[in-house]
Amino acid sequence: MSIGHNYTRELRQLDDRHNIHPFCDGKQLIERGSTIISRGEGCYVWDSDGNRLLDGMAGLWCVNVGYGRNELADVAAKQMRELPFYNMFFQSTTPPQISLAARLAEVTPDGLDHFFFANSGSEANDSIIRMVLHFWKVEGQPTKRHFIGRNLGYHGSTMAAVSIGGMKPMQDMHAAGHEILPGFHHIGEPHWYRHGGDQSPEDFAKSAAAELEDKIIELGAENVAGFIGEPIQGAGGVIEPPAGYWKEIERICRKHDVLMIVDEVICGFGRLGEWFGAQYYGVQPDVMTMAKGLSSGYLPISAVAFNSRINEALRSGGVLSHGYTYSGHPVACAVAEANIDIIENEGLVERTREETGPYFNEVIGQIAADHPLVGEKRGAGLLAGLQLMQDRGSKTFFEAGSTAAIQCRETALENGLIMRAVGTAMVLCPPLTITRGEIDELAEKTVMALDATAKVHGIK
Ligand code: PMP
Repeated sequence: MSIGHNYTRELRQLDDRHNIHPFCDGKQLIERGSTIISRGEGCYVWDSDGNRLLDGMAGLWCVNVGYGRNELADVAAKQMRELPFYNMFFQSTTPPQISLAARLAEVTPDGLDHFFFANSGSEANDSIIRMVLHFWKVEGQPTKRHFIGRNLGYHGSTMAAVSIGGMKPMQDMHAAGHEILPGFHHIGEPHWYRHGGDQSPEDFAKSAAAELEDKIIELGAENVAGFIGEPIQGAGGVIEPPAGYWKEIERICRKHDVLMIVDEVICGFGRLGEWFGAQYYGVQPDVMTMAKGLSSGYLPISAVAFNSRINEALRSGGVLSHGYTYSGHPVACAVAEANIDIIENEGLVERTREETGPYFNEVIGQIAADHPLVGEKRGAGLLAGLQLMQDRGSKTFFEAGSTAAIQCRETALENGLIMRAVGTAMVLCPPLTITRGEIDELAEKTVMALDATAKVHGIK
């Protein structure tokens, strides 16, 4: 493998000449040059200069089983030799596809036994919108066409996914030269530390959930198709709802016959110490989105789980005019199933629940308690957000355009840790295979980055 400064320079020149990067300021990229990651093993990746980096973000919240899994490469190679592709359209499918669907039925919550396949979280959420509209039509309630999401919710980048997402306050995803599609509405994010005021977390959970009921009543329940939310909002800054919130959301959805759609793209496959975030919060979704951890990012694949009510309607509703060439791609399905086997055989869900998750939360929680730059630690399992504060004593947040978090991210990178900056918060989401020793390293480097950032901002 080539490494070194010349190699990096050449790659950066080509990158600059030909690549359009997602979620990236093109001008800043030219000044800084891209980080080029060329290899991975366990919880570490190496850049093209040969620097070893602890990947505190599991790639992009996805490499749950860690890097370098030869067994997944072997499964992919075997399937490619046997049958690299066949489609699921019309009345066809392939053995790995059927096998994955059956395997998913074993690990998803009871009652969610029917799956539709796509290639990304965005496509899965787009599929949900189209399929749910079709469902309500078949059910004889064609006016149920409106969807409710939340501020700072992230559900992907396609037009429908962006419309149901609520990233307007952070990245202005609703202003890229287009308006959001009609029929999409948003309620506030359940962030007690920021919005709770004098309310107890329990009271705030109720009032944040009541926003959903108010919105349903405003639109008319007969017009509302579904509510969609991430168990813990990831890309919005790891926003963990206070206890009781999800139960209340479930009650309101049931009362008004509004489908409860839970986006498990980040929280699914063990991240919170349960197979799915809905189980962590003790609720029963009607529809569930899965991607990322489904294959640990080894190949692009996503899936939507539907309950039997929706499945039966879809089956009896004539032709479902929706799908992708690569829906149920046999190689991706084979790899996803082998990935689920790894999660199960290595007990990664239990380990996250009982060992690494509690330790991670203790260590990161201690940093939040001790560090003058941090106001709040959020998250559960192996998912954490640290809220950076201008002045935590007076609960003064940094201005929205503050560079503090980016500075912290860059310092962490220089010290060998990949973490992510989201607005004015730092985010961590390491592989589920992380050890206690690696958590210690992650914590040490996080403190180093926070110290350097606090110094620049004169925070003691
Ligand atoms: N939903 C959630 C909760 C996500 O975090 C993401 C990606 N970060 C998506 C959907 C979109 O997934 P993709 O990037 O694979 O389209």
